Amino acid sequence: MLPPLSLGLWHNFGDERSIDSQRAILRRAYDRGITHFDLANNYGPPPGSAETNFGRIFSEDFTAHRDDLVISTKAGYSMQEGPYGDWGSRKYLLNSLDASLKRMGLDYVDIFYHHRPDPNTPIAETASALETAVTSGRALYVGISNYSPEQTTAMAKELSSRGIHLLIHQPRYSMFDRHIEEGLFPVLEEQGIGSIVFSPLAQGMLTDRYLGGDIPSDSRAATSVFLSEDRIDETYLARARGLNAIAQDRGQTLAQLALAWVLRQPQVTSALIGASSTQQLDQNLGALDAAPLTDDELAAIDEFAVH
Ligand code: NDP
Repeated sequence: MLPPLSLGLWHNFGDERSIDSQRAILRRAYDRGITHFDLANNYGPPPGSAETNFGRIFSEDFTAHRDDLVISTKAGYSMQEGPYGDWGSRKYLLNSLDASLKRMGLDYVDIFYHHRPDPNTPIAETASALETAVTSGRALYVGISNYSPEQTTAMAKELSSRGIHLLIHQPRYSMFDRHIEEGLFPVLEEQGIGSIVFSPLAQGMLTDRYLGGDIPSDSRAATSVFLSEDRIDETYLARARGLNAIAQDRGQTLAQLALAWVLRQPQVTSALIGASSTQQLDQNLGALDAAPLTDDELAAIDEFAVH
């Protein structure tokens, strides 16, 4: 029962952004029905600051709405120096969850995720940490992110043997990254696991941000290490402009088409977007008003989407 669009705080909620802009985006999201906010221990920059900023805004504006909100956090990527600040040990996960709750000023999160698989920690140990997160009341549900189909099956089995259901998987999915269609979707269906797909707009590449071929100085490609400027090349532009033409024929923006496209999959519970302004958020929510994609439109999209 997640909203079709959820808001992630990976970018745009660190200390380099004004608290007013952050507050405006969170409030607009909630007012327009986005009842799920997704965080992680390391979101910022600096790591931890997105949770701290969210906690401040939550305490000032949202405490009366706690029961209507699904708030998630994660641990699994590098958070601090030393052996217990990365990957998937019980020590790291539970310490990190406590630190996240403190930064956000919350008694519990709704969903606690293991952020990425750990090749060195036995899956039973990571599962035991997720189990404790639930049985100790720190989290209502648990999820995993970036796990392969095989790792997902193994974790679902491990948690199930402990009486815990693996509720949700958070994989990357967009017209420019379709890797989960083959292997993961069938496993999710078989195991009864929901999915919330991240970067459905390919970090802005499936919007009009770069369609002109320029890189705006305030864009993610110009400001973040996670989207390098050389991704905005001629091959990309040809694909994005082809998809944009299909969107225009439907009376949509490219962002709206990209969101309608991920949401067409029955295994997708929610599309997890980012937004650097309330205008972007409003535009993206317009995706929910559009007519379903036809078979002809899907075939036309396949010409430009990366397989
Ligand atoms: P998106 O693909 O939705 O990209 C969001 C960015 O696209 C925005 O910050 C903005 O960039 C641009 N944008 C959004 N809407 C528009 C619009 N209408 N017009 C023009 N530009 C637009 O998702 P993210 O990559 O931000 O990821 C979303 C969330 O997914 C994260 O916050 C996080 O919660 C989660 N995530 C999880 C990961 C994991 O490993 N589990 C990894 C990555 C993300 P700009 O700054 O240029 O304005």
